Amino acid sequence: MATQSPRTYADVNAVVAGYLRDLAFAQSSQQKMFGYKRAAAAILALDLPLTELVGRDGALPRISGIGPGSTRVITEILLTGESPTVEQAIERSERRADIDRRRQLRRHFLSRAEVRRVLSDPSFAGPTLQQYHGDLQMHSEWSDGYPTVHEIADACLQRGYQYAAVTDHSYGLKIAGGMSMAEAAEQRSAIDQVNATHRDRFRLLQGIEANIDVAGRLDLSEDEAATFDVVLAAPHSRLRRNEDQTDRMLAAVGQPAVRILAHPRGRITGSRAGVIADWDTVFAAAAARGVAIEIDGDPARQDLDHTLATRARDAGCLFALDSDAHTTTQLSYAETALAHARLAGIPADRIVNCWPLDRLLAWLADPGSALRRG
Ligand SMILES: [Zn+2]
Repeated sequence: MATQSPRTYADVNAVVAGYLRDLAFAQSSQQKMFGYKRAAAAILALDLPLTELVGRDGALPRISGIGPGSTRVITEILLTGESPTVEQAIERSERRADIDRRRQLRRHFLSRAEVRRVLSDPSFAGPTLQQYHGDLQMHSEWSDGYPTVHEIADACLQRGYQYAAVTDHSYGLKIAGGMSMAEAAEQRSAIDQVNATHRDRFRLLQGIEANIDVAGRLDLSEDEAATFDVVLAAPHSRLRRNEDQTDRMLAAVGQPAVRILAHPRGRITGSRAGVIADWDTVFAAAAARGVAIEIDGDPARQDLDHTLATRARDAGCLFALDSDAHTTTQLSYAETALAHARLAGIPADRIVNCWPLDRLLAWLADPGSALRRG
């Protein structure tokens, strides 16, 4: 098993959840659609593959959120690898074109069970959970997240982190409760208090998730950006366009303040493909500047996924593996990012979250320092 190619291993929970989502979009009743979507989400969040959860009699255990209709589909797939029930429902629905489009947008997404399998499989060369020292994208009560900065620090310490960055949205992104510069100054005081409490044990950085506009500019000025410990740049608009946006992403990577290109495509599983660009060119520019490419571990994003991350690895990029958490329990989403990094075989030395704090701070102060070092 150790030498087996990782992708020949079927992610059964992802396959099952995909069929359940197909079934959801084949429904004419909203209530049934939500029911099957909920069932798909429940399967994707399971810690174990369904193949390990069925009893010797072939029966599924009771899974919260899974009704009899979903159980029938799951049993079919486990027995045969496919679901005639779902295929017939799609035929009857006359929504095949939309469902086929959504199927294309599910590629390279991992279920929680697959993430756990990849993390525990020693045959991968990529980073381990033990090498991961801190998470560099998360949201607090200061924008669209829930926790206070104190709650975030406590939760990060429980996960064994040495540092983390709170990265609320900047003021340009009103829809996500973007933080004004006055609020950012108040948040800085709260973070200073957190750091005074934990001293040498843990360091909370004040980051910002800046929005990339149509031309690749950020939604805050150079001077404003300089007040933060780390600036992430991320696209939140024009994520459903068919045209090439290489120039926009090159401009973003070229902004002097930017250290991390966060969720580079802005894709969402089964829903949108995100930015279309010549990514090899973008990765080459990022590598030349020492800008890290993020693997966003939000299960719905998984952006970059391991296939594109392999190309960024080959371009010589640095990486940031982040949760994009909006609650403290979502900090575990960093594990999804780690799984993609392991599948892509990214060495821990290229992952800024695997560096000790002093090296991380040196890179934030001067991204070229990481290049001279390597
Ligand atoms: Zn974002």
